[in-house]
Amino acid sequence: MAASSATSRRGNLLPRVASPSAKSKAKPRRRGHLFQEVILKQLRLLVLFALAIILIAIFKVGLPGALHHTSRVVTPVIGFNLTESQVDIKMSDLYDTIEFKDIDGGAWKQGWKVQYSGDEWDRYKLRVFVVPHSHNDPGWLRTVEEYYQERTRRILSTIVHALRQDKKRKFIWEEMSYLERWWRDASEAEKRDFITLVKNGQLEIVGGGWVMNDEANSHYYAIIEQITEGNLWLKNTVGVIPRNAWAIDPFGHSPTMAYLLRRMGFQNMLIQRTHYEVKKVLAREQNLEFVWRQSWDKSNTTDILCHMMPFYSYDIPHTCGPEPAICCQFDYWRLPGSGAAQRCPWGYDPQVITEDNVKERSEMLLDQYRKKSTLYKTNTLLVPLGDDFRYITSAEASLQFENYQKIFDYINKHPKLKAEVQFGTLEDYFKAIRDELDVRKKDLKLPTLSGDFFTYADRVHDYWSGYYVSRPFYKSVDRVLEETLRAADILFSLSSAYCQAHGPDRFPLPFTEKIRSARRTLALFQHHDGVTGTAKNHVVVDYAQKMHSALLDLQKFMAQSVAVLLGRSMSGQGSCTVVNPDMFIPEKEQTSYGVLPIRKKVDLVSSQVQRVIFYNPLEEDVDQVVMVLVEQTNVCVVGSDWKPIESQISPEWRNSKDLAGTRHRLHWQVHVPAMGLQTFFIFVAQGSQSCKPAQIADIKVFHPTDAFTCPPPYKCSQTEEKVVEIQNERVKLVFSVQDGLLHSWKDYKSGNVMSLKEDVALYSSYGSGAYLFKPVGEARSIVSPGGLIVVTQGPLMQEVLTQPKTDWSLSPASRMARVYNGIDTVQSFMAEMVYHVELLDHAFNDKELIVLFETDLDTGNTFFTDLNGFQTISRETRGKIPLQGNYYPMPSLAFLQGSEGHRFSLHSRQSLGVASLKSGALEVMLDRRLTRDDERGLGQGVLDNRPMDVTFHLLLESNVTSLPSIAASTPRVPSLLSHRILAQLNYPMHTFFGNIENASDVQASHLQKTFAPLAVNFPCDLHVVSLKMPEPLGFSASTSHGAEYVLILHRRGWDNSYCRRGQMQCRTVADEQVNAQDIFVELDSSIATPSSLNLIHDSTRDFGYIEISGRKGGKGSEHKWLIDMAPMEIQAFKFDMSLGKGKQSLQDD
Ligand SMILES: [Zn+2]
Repeated sequence: MAASSATSRRGNLLPRVASPSAKSKAKPRRRGHLFQEVILKQLRLLVLFALAIILIAIFKVGLPGALHHTSRVVTPVIGFNLTESQVDIKMSDLYDTIEFKDIDGGAWKQGWKVQYSGDEWDRYKLRVFVVPHSHNDPGWLRTVEEYYQERTRRILSTIVHALRQDKKRKFIWEEMSYLERWWRDASEAEKRDFITLVKNGQLEIVGGGWVMNDEANSHYYAIIEQITEGNLWLKNTVGVIPRNAWAIDPFGHSPTMAYLLRRMGFQNMLIQRTHYEVKKVLAREQNLEFVWRQSWDKSNTTDILCHMMPFYSYDIPHTCGPEPAICCQFDYWRLPGSGAAQRCPWGYDPQVITEDNVKERSEMLLDQYRKKSTLYKTNTLLVPLGDDFRYITSAEASLQFENYQKIFDYINKHPKLKAEVQFGTLEDYFKAIRDELDVRKKDLKLPTLSGDFFTYADRVHDYWSGYYVSRPFYKSVDRVLEETLRAADILFSLSSAYCQAHGPDRFPLPFTEKIRSARRTLALFQHHDGVTGTAKNHVVVDYAQKMHSALLDLQKFMAQSVAVLLGRSMSGQGSCTVVNPDMFIPEKEQTSYGVLPIRKKVDLVSSQVQRVIFYNPLEEDVDQVVMVLVEQTNVCVVGSDWKPIESQISPEWRNSKDLAGTRHRLHWQVHVPAMGLQTFFIFVAQGSQSCKPAQIADIKVFHPTDAFTCPPPYKCSQTEEKVVEIQNERVKLVFSVQDGLLHSWKDYKSGNVMSLKEDVALYSSYGSGAYLFKPVGEARSIVSPGGLIVVTQGPLMQEVLTQPKTDWSLSPASRMARVYNGIDTVQSFMAEMVYHVELLDHAFNDKELIVLFETDLDTGNTFFTDLNGFQTISRETRGKIPLQGNYYPMPSLAFLQGSEGHRFSLHSRQSLGVASLKSGALEVMLDRRLTRDDERGLGQGVLDNRPMDVTFHLLLESNVTSLPSIAASTPRVPSLLSHRILAQLNYPMHTFFGNIENASDVQASHLQKTFAPLAVNFPCDLHVVSLKMPEPLGFSASTSHGAEYVLILHRRGWDNSYCRRGQMQCRTVADEQVNAQDIFVELDSSIATPSSLNLIHDSTRDFGYIEISGRKGGKGSEHKWLIDMAPMEIQAFKFDMSLGKGKQSLQDD
């Protein structure tokens, strides 16, 4: 099994194992005006905005512990564009200095021959904390339950037993998913012992998330959910709050984690998997410990102390010092005859400590500790002692604890050795570090650092960029589960508040367990072998089935919420019992875990009416062209006021040679209130009814094959036209008539054109696997002239379907490009590109499929990607790094910015990998199919590809300010329009169908047609990350304020140099502050308290922050709770909502 094999992902960097394919043949590939709108009004807004900013509140700042003692008052620097923070080390600058030559360092292969003179510890002796740990993946080669039954259950019991035997023994534990599982099985005595050990400091919970989450693919919404779920369980069950985070296995590290952890009250964090060349250069300057600061943080409120481990792995051979052949001899579970399968691969076995050898062994180990210590500034040293699924038996625990204790006793008894060694927790270590920093503050200061640690390489040219894309179908399901959970949480909160008077059995409380289970499923999948796509096939299926079942539960719940919220007027304060659970059904049917959801269709006969409800989970009203499938083409749509609405009918194309579908798509424009519901009705159009029949779309076909038949009742014209184009009133997309690919983007009003060439290409790989991307040379285009092009045009939606001509009978990717007409819609500014991908055939083995966009923007080597959907970061494509190392995670966004300020953005609803290998070009990998294992322990390739759709929203923008304002050092953030496009893509509307009714029944129905809970839209730059009841059945008891609800807000950082087009009815925080008491129409809300993002800490000092809310303003008795937040910040508020008491009565300050 891989956890105990030398080729494990957590395995050894064997000195004698040169990588079989050490040298990549691949070289970085070198392949291949717009409009300007200056709005005078803009200037006035600028001035108003600047004035408003000056009025923004003054913030109190508390910084992490001993690093900074005093709290001081600072005014965060906020402006139109964010300003870059001041740091000692900027990762992008550091990359410029590294040569990436992988020079052989000898015993420490990726470093150098470490030496010391011996007098380093004369003044301050070496203090070593040996930290025993066991890394338990919640699913990888086994499912989480299999691991639990086979190993983790025993490990947790072993730890408790071993620590109880000797107070000097310590341990740390990370994953709450396993601890919660064990807690259900453990005896009362074991639980008592566990709590005792935690309280007396022998056992520390580090991180305390549900899992140790991936940091590349995971979205910040899900990271907050997964840590909060673990932390709350921990606090409520064990009664402890974690302060130190431990991330030894995620494949690269994101500053978003540093930010979120800080805002959760963490003081210190540890990371491991960073590029070996980065480790080396940081170790050279003793900069492996640093203060991690966000790149946009001018006030230094995001500072968190970070320890980076120096070596190849977190196993014992790579943690005691630089020489694995020595360190391995101090892994006593590798003792021959111990019962463990694993031996030291360097040829030297461990030796049991005896009186005869204790001196020699102690000095040998201390020599490693000293060498390791020279890589850090302080004389306090951290030495992890563990590996995957270790300490499984008491024999193993005894071997480690007893032999080490003998060594410790020897060293500690000999003052000449100038060292003090002991078992410790992470807390023990960080406390000692902070004490030392305090004592030596005159000569000792840790550097500050900004930036990230992608893309990770562990050796030679082995870059871990493959996992940005592996199993993309499930990466997509992950995000569907996220937005569905968020949407369900909002409905849960609102219906709970409306139904408050109905007692403890009221709707929606019976759904509490289902919601919690869905939250835990989402949390589980954030594990670094979950959303990464790096688990065995059967484990992937296990995750997928759990997500599928969670989605079904959430949809069922939402459908019932719709019935409750629209039925409020039916009996007094509301119909808070669900009479008919099937009154509404979700339009999307999740039939199985591994397939795309099936859309239900509307099927009517005359005089029948289909009620359709849209739920908008966003914090702003949404105007959008929507679509449902219908059986008949002679239909029409009316709104809730029974007024006719313009609609369009188009064929539903299927992904086959003939495209033949038997259903039709009905499009119309809706307006749905923020976090609300809106009803529409579909009928069969009859002469007598006063509705506008849907307009039948025109269809043009280029290069039709014999298989293609025109579906009735449409008219398909074959045309000899020289251009293929679609347009709305803002955007015109032009396609090549030869191959059907996108060719250019025109601003329809100004006539300006930007070249935008689309291509679909394949990489061939020789060593790619679930983790690694290792291509042979460049990607090759697979598209040749010919190929079927079908253009569908109507008043609301125009699209170009291209089935490219390729070497295969059916192309592995077909593409639908769309523009929408719409009045005042964000949608009308962008182009929608949907790629249907099927990398199913063995013909695609060891191939990786990309889509490429080449613009004529002059971008040099620079492009931008997002990190966790939270922030954007500048990327540099570097020739000294192989192609695969120039791939970066793209959880939701990538953009290019030309020297003249024009910007091309690509918004995504799932995480993928992206690169810009040529000036003006962006490529995104869509899927990968790999026969080989990439030697990181998984033991298989990736061949379980699924048919899927990948959707991008494309946007072209031009800078409306004078160019010098875009200073090179300005952190680039999306425009407001880009943020809104991203939000509408990632938090889409949910559609529900009522039962088929007769027209007369509809008129008589008591159901309300609109539900609009918000009194005002939130400002456009304020995103509701979540509105939820974290613990519906017990939360109020566990908080000091009795608040039941939580609102988490994110004030977006946005770039004001871009057109504020799409600003329709769009105010910003600076325009008008939010008074939290006025958020809801019928519900009274009172902000009880700001909270840390994990909902644990109520004192803002605990999470490095700032008093941002609860600021009272207004005149006289009209108190307000104004929400003040600096751009980029995320903030949680605990509050209460109640119905019908009247707003004034709650203001009892
Ligand atoms: Zn792991």
